[in-house]
Amino acid sequence: MDTQVLIVGAGPVGLTLAIDLGRRGINCILLEQKAAPQFLPKMERCNARTMEIYRRLGIAQKVRDAGFPRDASMDVFIVTSLIEPPLLHLPYPSVAQAQAEIAACSDATMPLEPYQLISQYTLEPLLKSIAEILPSVSVRYGCEFISFAQDQRSVRAQVRRSDGSTAQLEAQYLVGCDGGASSVRRQLGIKLQGEANLLELRQALYRCDDLFERIPIGKGRHYHVADAHNTFLIVQDSTRHFTLHSVVNSDADMATMFEKTVAMPVKYEMLYVGKWRQNLLLADSYGRDRVFLAGDAVHLVIPTGGLGMNSGVGDATDLAWKLAATLKGWGGPRLLASYEIERRQIGDRNVAASRHAARGRRAWRAMYRPNIRDHTPEGAEARANLTRVADVEQRKSNEMIGAELGYRYVGSPIIWPEPGEGPAPNFMKYEPTTWPGARLPHLWLSDGTALHDRIGDGYTLLRLAGALSGVAALAQAFAAYGAPFSVLDIAEEHPRDIYGYDLLLLRPDLHVVWRGNRLPDDPVKLAAVATGHYG
Ligand SMILES: Cc1cc2nc3c(=O)[nH]c(=O)nc-3n(C[C@H](O)[C@H](O)[C@H](O)COP(=O)(O)OP(=O)(O)OC[C@H]3O[C@@H](n4cnc5c(N)ncnc54)[C@H](O)[C@@H]3O)c2cc1C
Repeated sequence: MDTQVLIVGAGPVGLTLAIDLGRRGINCILLEQKAAPQFLPKMERCNARTMEIYRRLGIAQKVRDAGFPRDASMDVFIVTSLIEPPLLHLPYPSVAQAQAEIAACSDATMPLEPYQLISQYTLEPLLKSIAEILPSVSVRYGCEFISFAQDQRSVRAQVRRSDGSTAQLEAQYLVGCDGGASSVRRQLGIKLQGEANLLELRQALYRCDDLFERIPIGKGRHYHVADAHNTFLIVQDSTRHFTLHSVVNSDADMATMFEKTVAMPVKYEMLYVGKWRQNLLLADSYGRDRVFLAGDAVHLVIPTGGLGMNSGVGDATDLAWKLAATLKGWGGPRLLASYEIERRQIGDRNVAASRHAARGRRAWRAMYRPNIRDHTPEGAEARANLTRVADVEQRKSNEMIGAELGYRYVGSPIIWPEPGEGPAPNFMKYEPTTWPGARLPHLWLSDGTALHDRIGDGYTLLRLAGALSGVAALAQAFAAYGAPFSVLDIAEEHPRDIYGYDLLLLRPDLHVVWRGNRLPDDPVKLAAVATGHYG
C-alpha cells in the first residue's frame, strides 16, 4: 500500500482535504496534473463558514495575512462606469469592522470568523505550502491521474508524470477533487444533472497599480455595470489586480470593456483572457465504495453568491474526519456512508441558493435600458427603475448568510433523530439553532474565548450551567469503540440559555449529534449512532 488516501486535484478543495487529513495524522498523496499553481483568476471570497473551518485547521490568520487588507472596503456597487454617480451602493463591513461586530455580538447570530477576500491564485499556493510541511502528506505536482480500479481491499490508480513515465499507486481510499470535468467522476459513471451552459462569459485579469486608490465613486470589491453585456469588475486581493467579466465577441473586446468601465486614463496590463460558462449542476452520487468525490467534481454553481469553492471546503472537512475515523479503526460503516447523505443535500441546497442569487442578478439586469446614461427624464427613469429592483435583487448575491452558516444535515444516519420537522432552510437569514445536524452556533464565553475554540477534535459532550448529569456510561460506550470523547463543563448560564438544553453531543466538525436535558436511556445507542456503528 503506497498511502492511506490518494487525493486527485490540488485545487482549494483537494488541498484543504490534504491539510485536514494531514493534521489528523493520516497518510495521503495529493496528485496535481499542473506543474505548479497558476496565476489564473477564479474565486476570491472565502465565506464565514470556510474561515471558521480554516480557524479549526489553525490557518485562518495565514489566509487573512495573504488576502485582502482587513480595513479595505467590501462594498458592492452598481454603476454605469467608475466615474459616474453609482446607481446603487451597498455597504458591507470590512473584515476589521466585521470582527468588531462579531466581538460585540452575544446572541449567537454571527459566525466566529467573518469572510475574507483572497484570490484563488493566492490561496492555492498558500494551502500548498501548508500541506507540504505536514509530515504525513505528500504533494505531487506534475502528476496526472489516468484511471483507477478498486476492489474490497484497496484502490489502484494509474498516474502519468510530467516526464511521460507512468506509475501505479495503491491506496485505501481515493478522493476525486479534480474539478468540473472530473475524470474520477466520469470513470465512476456518475452524471451531473441540472442546467448546463446557461451563459458563456469572458473573464480577463488586469494589473493596474493606481486604479484602486483613484476610484472616484468610492472603494468597493465588486462593481456591476448596468449594460447589455453582463459586465462586472472585481477587485482582487492585492488591490492592484482586477478581473472583468463580460459577454463580448473577442478577447480584444475585453480591453475595450475595461477601459469603458474604468472611464479614466489608467496604465494597465491585460494579463489573461479566458472563457467560462455558468452551470447549475449536481452529481447523482458523491462516490462509490472506496472512491469519493468532493468540490466542483460534484457540484457546479454560478459564482454569484460565492458558493462554489466554499461548498467544496465543507465537503472536504466533512469527509476528512470520517476517513480518519475509519482508517483509525473507530469509525463504523455508516460514517463514510453518511458523507454523501449529508453533503449531497447541501450541494443541492447551494445549487438552489446560487440559482436564487443568479435570478436576482438577472432581474435587475432585465431593467437595463440603452438610454440609462442619458441626461433626460427617460434616462433618469431608467436609472431609478433599475436601482429600485437592484436594491432588492442584488442583495441576494451578497447576503446569503443563511446558506453559508444555517445548513443542517437532515436524515443523516449519524445524527440522532429528533421528532418534528426542524427549522426550515432560509438562504438569507441565519437563525441559530442546536437542532441535531446543525453547526453549533458560535458564542463567546465570559473570559473572552470562543466556545468553538474550547472544543477538541473528537466527540464532545457539552455540559452546561452546572448540569450534573452522569456521563460515565456514555464515555464507556465511546471508549468501547476507541473513539475520542471528552466532556466540557461550561458553568455559565448564557450558553445554556442560547442553546436551550443542558447537554449537547458534538461531532469533531462541531455539528450537533444530539441534545437533551438528560442522557438517553440507552447511551450505548447514542455512541453507536454518532460513530456510525448503528443500523
Ligand atoms: C469566475 C469565477 C469566480 C468564482 N468565484 C468564487 C467565489 O468567490 N467563491 C467560491 O466559493 N467559489 C467561486 N468560484 C468557484 C470556484 O473557483 C470553484 O468552485 C473551485 O475552484 C472548486 O475547487 P475544486 O478544488 O473543487 O476544483 P478546481 O479548482 O477545479 O481544482 C481541480 C484541480 O484538479 C486538477 N486536476 C483535474 N484533473 C486532474 C487529473 N486527471 N490529474 C491530476 N489533477 C487533476 C486540476 O488541474 C485542478 O487544479 C468561482 C469560479 C469562477 C469561474
